[in-house]
Amino acid sequence: MADKRDYYEVLGVPKTADDEAIKKAYRKMAKKHHPDLHPGDKEAEERFKELNEAYEVLSDEQKRAQYDQFGFEQPGAGFGGGYSDFGGFGGFEDIFSSFFGGGFGGGAQRSGPMRGEDLHYEISISFKEAAKGCSKELNVTRHETCGVCQGSGCKEGCQPQTCPTCKGTGQVRMTQNTVMGHIQHVQTCRNCGGTGKIIQDPCGKCGGKGQVRTTKRRTVRIPAGIDDGQVIRISGQGELGQRGGPPGDLQVLVRVKPHKYFVRKGTDLYCQVPVSITQAALGTELDVPTLDKPVKYSVPEGTQPGTMFRIKGKGIPSIRTGVKGDLYVEINVEVPKRLDEKQKELLRQFDATITGREYEQKKSFFERMKSAFT
Ligand SMILES: [Zn+2]
Ligand SMILES: [Zn+2]
Repeated sequence: MADKRDYYEVLGVPKTADDEAIKKAYRKMAKKHHPDLHPGDKEAEERFKELNEAYEVLSDEQKRAQYDQFGFEQPGAGFGGGYSDFGGFGGFEDIFSSFFGGGFGGGAQRSGPMRGEDLHYEISISFKEAAKGCSKELNVTRHETCGVCQGSGCKEGCQPQTCPTCKGTGQVRMTQNTVMGHIQHVQTCRNCGGTGKIIQDPCGKCGGKGQVRTTKRRTVRIPAGIDDGQVIRISGQGELGQRGGPPGDLQVLVRVKPHKYFVRKGTDLYCQVPVSITQAALGTELDVPTLDKPVKYSVPEGTQPGTMFRIKGKGIPSIRTGVKGDLYVEINVEVPKRLDEKQKELLRQFDATITGREYEQKKSFFERMKSAFT
């Protein structure tokens, strides 16, 4: 590290140079030493590395302050080699595009037919609407061909003229002299805005654009089985294309509100149904809610909490096949609270009749526990 050159010296700026001066100096030196201009020249490559290292430090306020105070000898962390590679820099174009904002050396702007942009909308629907399918109204704003001039942009009886600046191509070429020779830029023609046409007498409705922003109410059909977060894409209903390009799509993001009782997993539905201890013990006929009318379901006697029953075909239709999923019903046994004295006494009387065979789990649990301690 002893023969490292001072960073200010590398960039050829005084220690008092401000950010702008440092940037300018770097730009100048980078052009001169870039390896692409000196293929196979090891020394130029080293110069360029050295330059990038110097710039990386001096262009960073914190690193520069550290360097000013300690030089290459860093306490603790140290500069150690970290700057000797190219850092985040890529090739030649990268460096210059970061300075000049792109368009370096023939980066032509697009001027051919361009597809219109996609339009994005969002619709919120209920859980049931998602399961059954529905139609929703949506106000869609987009550009449409002007009905007065039919898109020509001209007042009646006049014709658009070919732009004399670009001769109708919409582009102009500019040649710039640089240290590396001539560089050609292709730019959108300013005279006609890239359309290649000049309109002398513009249409009163669209002001010569040939398009007008229109809001139209349209109906969006939402298929049964759609899930939260899915997108309906309506082809060709987005923004108009430019210079003869196709229109974009209309994309509608569907948000499905959660349901009070049902949770959806794919095409299956899940719900919890509370039953009393008596119903669970004796068995019962339940009215199970579905997305249509409730259905009867016979819960057998001795049903345990958490038991899951499946009711076939009462789920949600698949958006592709239309085949419905199932409804899973979880039995939630509710233990009664706030019993009065008489009710408690009845339960105690009931308990006195217990022989042990009634509570399978309880019995085996305590038996296993006993054997574990003896
Ligand atoms: Zn018009
Ligand atoms: Zn032009």
